[in-house]
Amino acid sequence: MQDETTKYCTDCGGKLVKSSEVEYSCSNCELIHYESAKPVAMIILRKDDQVCLIKQSYVSEYYVLIAGYNDLGETMENTVYREVLEEVSCRVSNIEYFRSYFYEKKKLLMFCYVCDTEEEVSINNEEVDSYKWFNVKDAVSAVREGSTAHKCLLDYFMNG
Ligand SMILES: [Zn+2]
Repeated sequence: MQDETTKYCTDCGGKLVKSSEVEYSCSNCELIHYESAKPVAMIILRKDDQVCLIKQSYVSEYYVLIAGYNDLGETMENTVYREVLEEVSCRVSNIEYFRSYFYEKKKLLMFCYVCDTEEEVSINNEEVDSYKWFNVKDAVSAVREGSTAHKCLLDYFMNG
């Protein structure tokens, strides 16, 4: 693994030394730091039995679900509302938790939520190239097979 970037103690700035899979101890003040997953919201945005997927060419050639990091101080519901507003410029309601997925490669804990909008969606964000509405079955095929979005949409299609 090449992602062992040097970490520093948030208390004293000392160098952290890995002491177990999820623990680092500070070489200066001996404080133990725990490695934890970063929370991310992944969003199934619905309207008239269709779900909204977006394209972000800097991330992937495939369609993806709207998603974004939880900012410190936000609830996951806040994150869902904010991310949809930022990425496709519409307000949502009926925000409901669906299920979560752990994305090993980036150590992300992805909380999938479903929500609805009555508004028109539009792109007003340079990180998003386009959007498209799909029925759920077609959405499963539009995202990259094996991706977290694929697992999520498949689960939603089977059980949603
Ligand atoms: Zn320290």
